[in-house]
Formats: sequence, structure tokens, C-alpha cells
Amino acid sequence: MIGDVDSVALASGRFTPMLNPELLGFTCIACAAEFPIADYFEGCPHCLAYGAPASLRPRIASEPSILADARQLRMQRYAHWLPYQSWVTLGEGGTSCVSLPALAGEGSVKAVYIKNEGQNPSGSHKDRVSCLTVTRALDAGYGQIVAASSGNGGASLALYAAAAGLDCCIVSTPSLSPIFRQAIEMTGAELLTVTDSLERWALIADMAREQHWFPATNYLNPPVGSNHFGLPGLATVAFEIFEELHGRDLDAVLVPTSRGDLIWGLYVGFSQLQRLGHIAQLPRLFAVEPYPRIKRVLEGEPVTGSFPGTTAMASIGGSTVTLQAVHAVRATGGAAIVVDEHSVRRDQARLARHGCYAELSSAASLTGLECLVAEGKLSSSDTAVLIATSNGYKDLATAGASA
Ligand SMILES: [Zn+2]
Repeated sequence: MIGDVDSVALASGRFTPMLNPELLGFTCIACAAEFPIADYFEGCPHCLAYGAPASLRPRIASEPSILADARQLRMQRYAHWLPYQSWVTLGEGGTSCVSLPALAGEGSVKAVYIKNEGQNPSGSHKDRVSCLTVTRALDAGYGQIVAASSGNGGASLALYAAAAGLDCCIVSTPSLSPIFRQAIEMTGAELLTVTDSLERWALIADMAREQHWFPATNYLNPPVGSNHFGLPGLATVAFEIFEELHGRDLDAVLVPTSRGDLIWGLYVGFSQLQRLGHIAQLPRLFAVEPYPRIKRVLEGEPVTGSFPGTTAMASIGGSTVTLQAVHAVRATGGAAIVVDEHSVRRDQARLARHGCYAELSSAASLTGLECLVAEGKLSSSDTAVLIATSNGYKDLATAGASA
């Protein structure tokens, strides 16, 4: 199993990142400009010049003809789709996607599946990005990596940086839960706290531009998606959902969303499945958010606007929108759903009573499902997947006291 071989090699100082030989470079998701293989921490240089940052996606010479390598396990099964073919692995991916018939009955839909990303090594979907991002940092010759985080991303990156032997710095705000603080500091990473989200980005910009830190996350305002070597890892969530549904039709995926790395990754993954002929049409992707941001952009406001709000759902907080999130929703005929906190708290307990203990932000996907049914956008003939992005053990008993 390649993943285990890599772990041994890494521990003994012999790990060698291996780029995908089919990788030609990267393409802008907005203007379609093409760039050679390199680091573009601020996204597409052309779009940036116009004040509208846009993410880059990998350009592969010839797309693979098979979905998965059956000899491998977990995320490594899909390595031929990713910028790196071997990476610093802690066993990410391979999370369960299970049907909860009783929940489907309550929700008046045909079937509901929970994709439980809380089963990843650090307990969230962020591990699928962190493994590739730290690998890129190593390959590009960096000894230190930095990221802005409200919790899950920081805990994930700190863990993978530790395994890779990289110095790590996580920049957060005073509202960071002590559970995440402990998880980050336990790895030996440095945790810096600044006043607010936008100040985090200014600090990371300075560290990236002046002090040779590898930035794993956005530091622009308006923002761009996370690192373009790491982001493609999220397409594997779509691959796994497809495989676990065994070809059954899928109508909707509900995704707790902030800046849209995950919903973009799902869009890319399902698009690749469609090109392979595995699915006839893309499932609708629904971004679930705690206050209107993507929703306002879909209604006509500029994506570069500011959309402030407060919420206890820290993992999907923030005041900004990315182009990638809007693209993913529009291209699949989905929508943005705004959910209220009281209902999400109720649904966190409801989910647990059905067998999935997920963090508060993850439960927003169940609340979003109820909204879609109430609005007539999903019916008794539809199958939906709810993405549980993170584990419930990360929530404090007093969660909700801070924004
Ligand atoms: Zn561009």
C-alpha cells in the first residue's frame, strides 16, 4: 500500500514528492488563462490585476480513463487525478457515506446519505487538502507553512505539517475554540491570534511576501480559494460518494459553505465523473450558509462585496464570497440556502440521534435539506447527500457563546 510506504519513507527522511507526470500546469477558472506548473498564491495573475481574484485548477495532459486504482486504498485510489501522485499521507479519505432511511422518512425524500468527513485523521474534510498542500510546500523547498483558520483547517494543517517536518504557524482570532487551540499547539505549531479575520490575512500576506512562508490559505481581500495544489484533493469526496452509491441516481448535495473550497471540489469531481460517462447529469450543489453571502451574489451583488454577519457556526463564518463557490452552485443548477442557528442546533441533535455526531456547522446541511423540501425544491423522489464536514467532538458543550 503506497500510503504506508510513504509514511515510513517520510519518517526516515526519504520522502520524495512525486508530481503527476500528466500535469501540464494550471488554468484560471474565470478567464481560462493557462499557466505553467508553479506557485500562484494569489490565484490567477490576470484576474488579480482587475481586482477580481480567481482560483486556478490543474490542467492534465490526458484525463484518466478510469476513476480509481483498485490496488490502492482511500484517497490514494484517485491519485492519477491529482497534482501529486504521492504525498504526505496520514490515511485521509475513504470516509463513509451511509444511508439513513429514518432520516429520509422524516425529511420526506427518497433517500438521505451522510458523507462523514469527520472520520479523517484530524476529523474534517480539510485533510484532503492539507496532505497535498504540505507536499507542495516540501517540493517547492519551503521549511515553513502558514494558514488562516477558524479551527478545522488549522488543526488539519498543523497535523500534516508536523508529519512533514515543516514549521507551522496558524493565525486565528480570539474566538478560536480551546479545543482547536489545544489540537494545534499539541503538534508543536505556533498559534498567533489577531483581532479579526481580515487582520489574519494581512499578517499572512506579510509572512508570505517578506518572510518566505508557504501560505496554505487565502490572504487576499476579496479572497481566492485555498492552495491550487491542495484544492483538487476535494474532488475525491465526489468520487467516493459516487462509488458508495453504487450508481444510484443522486439529485442533490448539501454543503456547509464559507469560501467554497469543498463545493468547488465537489463540482470538479462530479464533472469528471460525467465526462467519464459514470453519471448522466451533475447533482445540484446547494451551499448552506448562516447568513446571506453567496445568496446575495446569486441575486446580483458583486462577488467582491462584503457580507458581514455573526454566527456560532464558526466553520462557515466570514464575510466574503469566492468566485469558485458561485460557479459551483450556478453550473449545477443549485442554490444558496440560509439557515437559522436555532434550527441547526435542533438538527445537530437530530443527526446524532440518527447515528451521526457532527459539529454544529455540519448540521446546517440537514437544516438546509428541510428548507429545500419546504420550498418544493426536493421531493419524495429525490436522493440527497449531506456532507458532515467535521466531527462533533470538536464542539464545546458551551458552543455558541462566541461568534
Ligand atoms: Zn483569470
